[in-house]
Amino acid sequence: MIIDFHTHIFPPEVVKNRERFAARDRVFSRVYGNPKARMVTVEGHLEAMAEDRVDAAVVCGFPWQDTGVAAMANAYVLEAQQRFPGRVHAFYTPSLSGGESTLRAAADALEKGMKGVGEAAFYRAEMLAEDWTHLGELARIARTFGVPLLLHVNEPVGHVYPGKVEMRLRDIWRFTVDHPDLALVLAHWGGGLFFYELMKSVRKSSGRLYYDTAASPFLYDPSIYRIAAEILGPDRVLFGSDYPLIRPSRYFRQIDGAGLSPEARARLLGENARKLLAL
Ligand SMILES: [Zn+2]
Repeated sequence: MIIDFHTHIFPPEVVKNRERFAARDRVFSRVYGNPKARMVTVEGHLEAMAEDRVDAAVVCGFPWQDTGVAAMANAYVLEAQQRFPGRVHAFYTPSLSGGESTLRAAADALEKGMKGVGEAAFYRAEMLAEDWTHLGELARIARTFGVPLLLHVNEPVGHVYPGKVEMRLRDIWRFTVDHPDLALVLAHWGGGLFFYELMKSVRKSSGRLYYDTAASPFLYDPSIYRIAAEILGPDRVLFGSDYPLIRPSRYFRQIDGAGLSPEARARLLGENARKLLAL
């Protein structure tokens, strides 16, 4: 079974009216303002999944600044899960603006059956103390419901791209230490944090910590799959494509050439996600 742990969909009105939404949301404009940045509805997503033989996907929205737009977009993701049970696993994507209303909406969404929180992303600029506090509150809600939290992380080095912000690995590590019972998934290989799991003091706090592979073909040499498996073992990496950014098939070509054992490959592509989502 292949499960894509990191994808995004948008309601048809957002796909059709990109400029109008971009004019209202600076962060959305930065990541999706360019007409070349692909957006899909759930139907488009399911088509690509069928072509690439992906059985199920964790589906996220976007961290809209406007809580009204965030509510509309999250309702669309929940509806997608209800329309396509077993294939779509809806995650509640919290608004960047935070506040009480977002926390209430997150709890309400999980109550209604959404399977996790994420992709939580603070694309605004560097993450501030108040952002970490807000994220901590979201983590508390996710833990209460026993669901994972997927957090956008990017590398502190390398080239600049839309959505890349200043992130300190130290802060992310702190957050993992402060939330030992949370099933936390760090997107995009955790910005490289997994390397530091070679340190005993970091490894100690990583019991429920996972990493996803989202955007890997744009960022890393394919040898990362083998190196990550060597450092982390086979159980804590989740295949995530960030579709529609990159097609799953492109990952499969890299993974097939990465020299993983059939067992490790199966865990990466679906088994770890299946356990984490309690399917
Ligand atoms: Zn991301």
